[in-house]
Amino acid sequence: MPKIKRQTLDGWGHTPVVECPSYRPERSRELASLLHEPGTQLARGLGRAYGDCALSPEGVVLTERLNHFIEFDGKRGLIRAQGGVTLAELMDYTIPRGWLPAAIPGTKNVTLGGAFACNVHGKNQFREGDFADHVQSIRLLLASGESIDCSPTHNREIFWTTAGGMGMTGIIEEITLKLKPIPSSSLTTTTYRVESLEEMIEAFVEFRGESDYMVGWIDHMAKGDDIGRGIFETAVHATPENGGKPLAKYQPSGARFNVPFFMPNFVLNRYSMAIYNMLRFRKYSAWRKVETVGFSSFFHPLDKIGHWNKLYGKRGFFQYQCLFPDGPDVVAQMQTFLSALHRKKIFSFLAVIKYHRKPKGLLTFSQDGYSIALDFPNTPRVRSVLPQLNKWVADNGGRVYLAKDSCLTADLFPVMYGKAAHDWMSVIDQLDPDAHFTSLMSKRLGWKYRA
Ligand SMILES: Cc1cc2nc3c(=O)[nH]c(=O)nc-3n(C[C@H](O)[C@H](O)[C@H](O)COP(=O)(O)OP(=O)(O)OC[C@H]3O[C@@H](n4cnc5c(N)ncnc54)[C@H](O)[C@@H]3O)c2cc1C
Repeated sequence: MPKIKRQTLDGWGHTPVVECPSYRPERSRELASLLHEPGTQLARGLGRAYGDCALSPEGVVLTERLNHFIEFDGKRGLIRAQGGVTLAELMDYTIPRGWLPAAIPGTKNVTLGGAFACNVHGKNQFREGDFADHVQSIRLLLASGESIDCSPTHNREIFWTTAGGMGMTGIIEEITLKLKPIPSSSLTTTTYRVESLEEMIEAFVEFRGESDYMVGWIDHMAKGDDIGRGIFETAVHATPENGGKPLAKYQPSGARFNVPFFMPNFVLNRYSMAIYNMLRFRKYSAWRKVETVGFSSFFHPLDKIGHWNKLYGKRGFFQYQCLFPDGPDVVAQMQTFLSALHRKKIFSFLAVIKYHRKPKGLLTFSQDGYSIALDFPNTPRVRSVLPQLNKWVADNGGRVYLAKDSCLTADLFPVMYGKAAHDWMSVIDQLDPDAHFTSLMSKRLGWKYRA
């Protein structure tokens, strides 16, 4: 039986910070015995979700030692691994062998279990869907103590309740992932400046047929008519013939620099953010710049700075990612949203736009539409505005991404996630009637233990 340790834990946004009794099993066979322990057994990966979904003051199970590869089929691009294996470890192994995960989030420092439980997406969600769309099967430890295999065809309902299910169905012990073949470890990118949100959305529409990846960055400090100006980037996989780096030469990159301690709160202020945003905007022009870049620069630029979250200081920050349904009003909706933030005088250091298509899965964030992800320092003003944003987004048919959330309320959750939320809750109630798996998020959003 693993020892219980009291640990102070947080999400990537460093808010909230709570003490959680933690177990760190060395082997998966120890997992089932944990279910007899008092408290809850919420699985936790690398804690890269920004908010409170991987926190439970009643008990968490750290999966960091459950990190073994089990099987790799290099002909079919199939890999089976434990839930605690990280995407970084997986990519370091598979890329030189010509295979890449099809859905890669903005950091590779996530576990496979965490990626499935949040059903994460990448810059190619519009083309490849979400992480779970590429998972052939999972082995899941249920509250009953039984380990079951689930796939899109076998125990289908449990599979799709667990995908994006925020750890509420059980502990993901193993995942079998289908990878996609790649010709090199580089991408050919086309990057250019757009002067407005209309131009940004036009760019997403223009490139959606021919791109492997697309992403937009907005200068959130720009005012008035400039609101929505930014940089649009699209990419396709490069072949060795057109400059792609040979797979054998792929070099895994770790952090080049570490933020050693929490910076004073003033380091990221409105003025330093404005300078950074202006310089970034000026780096490109309307001329379409074509370059060949390595995977790390394109997929994971933030990973180059270890613990960059400490730049926000001890107060921490919120990441807010919401999705606006596609349609004739989408530009106007996004403009209203961004202008409202300006009027409230809250600004984001980074503002990223992605295009999404409706996937499978009950609680999966993606829908047909565009998402915006923004980072806000944890200040009293921001804390007072976020509930208003949630209400506005819900009233306009949008939703927030649970992997980033720590302030949605139980009344708005079903408004945003609709009938799927209701169906999802009834399955988790059946699977875990005694609430073995709960989190701060599950309590906040009224999952389990309802009257
Ligand atoms: C810099 C950065 C960029 C990001 N970019 C993106 C992005 O582009 N797209 C995107 O979708 N997300 C993105 N994210 C969010 C991140 O990908 C997800 O939150 C991911 O789930 C974190 O994985 P983790 O292993 O750290 O899980 P944790 O944060 O530890 O846990 C997240 C959830 O998964 C559950 N969980 C973890 N392991 C298991 C398991 N073995 N079994 C059952 N449940 C489990 C937890 O209970 C919790 O509910 C980003 C995060 C950061 C910090």
